[in-house]
Amino acid sequence: MALITKKIKGTEDVLPKQSYRWQFVENIMREESKTYGFKEIRTPVFEHTELFARGVGQTTDVVQKEMYTFDTKGGESVTLRPEGTAGAARAVLEHSLENEGLPIKASYFVSCYRYEKPQAGRLREFHQFGLEEYGTQSPVADAEIICVAQSILDRLGLDKIRLEINSIGCPECRAKYNQALRDYFGGFRDRLCGTCLSRLEKNPMRLLDCKSPEDREIAKDAPKITDYLCDECEAHFAEVKAYLDCAGVKYEVNPTIVRGLDYYTKTVFEFVTDCIGAQGTVCGGGRYDGLIEELGGKHMPSLGFAMGLERLLMVMDAQGIEIPDPDACSLYIATMGDEAKRKAFTLLRRVRECGLIAETDVVGRGLRAQMKYADKIGAKYSLVLGDNEIAENKAKVKNMKTGEQTELALDDSFAERFSVLTLADDSSFEI
Ligand code: ATP
Ligand code: MG
Repeated sequence: MALITKKIKGTEDVLPKQSYRWQFVENIMREESKTYGFKEIRTPVFEHTELFARGVGQTTDVVQKEMYTFDTKGGESVTLRPEGTAGAARAVLEHSLENEGLPIKASYFVSCYRYEKPQAGRLREFHQFGLEEYGTQSPVADAEIICVAQSILDRLGLDKIRLEINSIGCPECRAKYNQALRDYFGGFRDRLCGTCLSRLEKNPMRLLDCKSPEDREIAKDAPKITDYLCDECEAHFAEVKAYLDCAGVKYEVNPTIVRGLDYYTKTVFEFVTDCIGAQGTVCGGGRYDGLIEELGGKHMPSLGFAMGLERLLMVMDAQGIEIPDPDACSLYIATMGDEAKRKAFTLLRRVRECGLIAETDVVGRGLRAQMKYADKIGAKYSLVLGDNEIAENKAKVKNMKTGEQTELALDDSFAERFSVLTLADDSSFEI
């Protein structure tokens, strides 16, 4: 096949007949996060490369290996966003959103770009839904965003997803912990992968996140951050857990979670499932109290999470979760002759104003082929408009399932009467 009719490796199309599945999931995310007071933020798909280098962290896999970076014609280095947080944080700073009051609460849907090895659940262009909250230290906020994620997963009908939480402390506890990690991993220098060796000095916690099987094995017995937390971090973690208990959210403490980005502090969490193979993390998040400062702002403790939409849809498939069918066409008007076409055009506009899906022939088919098409798209009602109907100014609307016919005048009352007719199909509705 010619190159131009093949999509780029690691990307996916969402075709018209599948998009309702995405919309179902997205609507639940939108509704649920709205109830917690989050409002959507939309930021550009590309940013200055430096923003991600700083905002995601120089020692991360994302920055070291996975970014789509290029020079523009103007000689600037720009990068396709590999995640949603850096852009949101940049927008917070650029528009001084703290002046509008704290906390700043934003949700986002983004496409992300990472040059990874494509496989099930791992794409080069993928999509995330996420939350960002800036300007709060409170453990209530940590528990609240975890609750949003849990509610979304619940409303999607998912089960067998476990919530794992950890605290990775603050720079103070981290200093002692990093030294303990250097001491521990230092004993395995000859067995560590090249990337880990280079990170051993700068950011030894990254070694806990390495995907290489041998390094994972070594990491199993590494010192645990939870043994190094300072009093404040320990108390914060205890409170987060207490609030989760209040909300009835079940979790496991997993001291090996460190998350992939550099600026996480205190709480980190993941929602993980075993039902879609190795790429089982559907949501990851936590606190990044140092991020805004790292980007040149004032100290502004922050937190958030991101969910991978492709992975969530995979889990829904794997668990056989049914998504309601998309709305079908309510009315198909078949036409014979030019006058009928014009009449149909007028009527359809009104029917659509009532919020119903309505179609007519736009490819010049004969009557039989039009009716076949109406059947194919699953139209609930059809109506044939010809010279007779126009002359009498009335026509029979046919219920495609039962064959039942109802005569309606083709005047200004048509759309309203038709919509009452369709409502009557819903047995719970009495006219
Ligand atoms: P992983 O450990 O699987 O590489 P990550 O730590 O890099 O994940 P984050 O940066 O936290 O992931 O992104 C949040 C979520 O986005 C992940 O939990 C996952 O659901 C999704 N995600 C991340 N990378 C990809 C990808 N390449 N393809 C599809 N989804 C992804
Ligand atoms: Mg990754």
